[in-house]
Amino acid sequence: MAFDSLSEKLQNVFKNLRGKGRLTEADVKAGLKEVKLALLEADVSFKVVKQFIKAVEERAVGTDVLESLTPGQTVIKIVNEEMVKLMGSETTEIKLRPSNEITVIMMTGLQGAGKTTTAAKLAGKFKIKGRKVLLTACDVYRPAAIKQLQVNGEKQGVEVFSMGDQNKPVDIAKAAVEHAKKHGMSVVILDTAGRLHIDESMMEELVEIKENVNVDYSILVVDSMTGQDAVNVASTFVDKVGIDGVILTKLDGDTRGGAALSIRAVTGKPILYVGMGEKLSDLEQFYPDRMASRILG
Ligand code: GDP
Repeated sequence: MAFDSLSEKLQNVFKNLRGKGRLTEADVKAGLKEVKLALLEADVSFKVVKQFIKAVEERAVGTDVLESLTPGQTVIKIVNEEMVKLMGSETTEIKLRPSNEITVIMMTGLQGAGKTTTAAKLAGKFKIKGRKVLLTACDVYRPAAIKQLQVNGEKQGVEVFSMGDQNKPVDIAKAAVEHAKKHGMSVVILDTAGRLHIDESMMEELVEIKENVNVDYSILVVDSMTGQDAVNVASTFVDKVGIDGVILTKLDGDTRGGAALSIRAVTGKPILYVGMGEKLSDLEQFYPDRMASRILG
């Protein structure tokens, strides 16, 4: 194996420690140096790593090493627990309104993050729960995006609402909600336009939709492969648009997924689901404990 796992590295760091007792500051500092490297390697942002290591250090110094654990395992256990705590301790789900009301979900994010695909994945999840879902094409800048949503909607057996590319996204969103009301639908998912980079007009467009349509969830879709950049994207969306939750895509790739930790730490918003592939069934619940193990390697 090219790299030792973090737990092996920690066993090495602590191998000269004999017997049990309390973790000293020197032991903890040595161990946490390895943890810090592992987190940076996993693309957790530097600022978050620093804060995290400090918090763990405060907790770990003076901790009793349990009979059943080695000092290395004790540090790993604390690190794991703190990461899980930071990422939200438990899974958070999208709560739909009762089916005689309409829940509006707005998908946001940069181009290529996986919005359109994820919108269709979510639609499938709600359909399985017995909901009538309306996917809505609010990306009027890329005709291919409308087509892609239609193709995906068809695959999912979910209706797609489109008004072509000559209307304003906010008007399409309003019309979609009216359409849903008229046809007894209970979930409207708005697929909005992304840009290659964060840009003012994209943010304004999203704010305008929120001001005119009763959006229950603004969901930020983030490509987990973008590592550190993901944090900047997330904090800008939080500031300018306001988001309620995050979906991290492309975790089927070889990223360790440090973005999950950074985004949660920086935004305080829950990660709702993770994208695990291109197929429309590849959307999974987010489990903080599994993510912690993956990030630590
Ligand atoms: P959008 O521009 O944000 O709407 O992004 P798209 O939905 O068009 O997705 C961009 C690309 O990423 C497409 O090729 C998708 O198939 C792919 N994609 C989306 N989610 C995932 C995922 O979870 N895993 C993988 N491997 N690919 C994904």
